[in-house]
Amino acid sequence: MATDPVCKMNVESEKAAGKAEYGGQVYYFCSDICHKAFVANPEKYTSGAATADHSCCGSHK
Ligand SMILES: [Zn+2]
Repeated sequence: MATDPVCKMNVESEKAAGKAEYGGQVYYFCSDICHKAFVANPEKYTSGAATADHSCCGSHK
């Protein structure tokens, strides 16, 4: 189990919608939206300063 760094949701790596490598670590994403947000600004999400952004996940069941 991995944690989506954008929305802090738990993501099963095998079912992740997206995957990105940053700073030698691999991150998994619940959705393409989170993936794109991370790739656009990885430092924001790896610094620990960002609060969870659930805008991507409002429709998650
Ligand atoms: Zn997400």
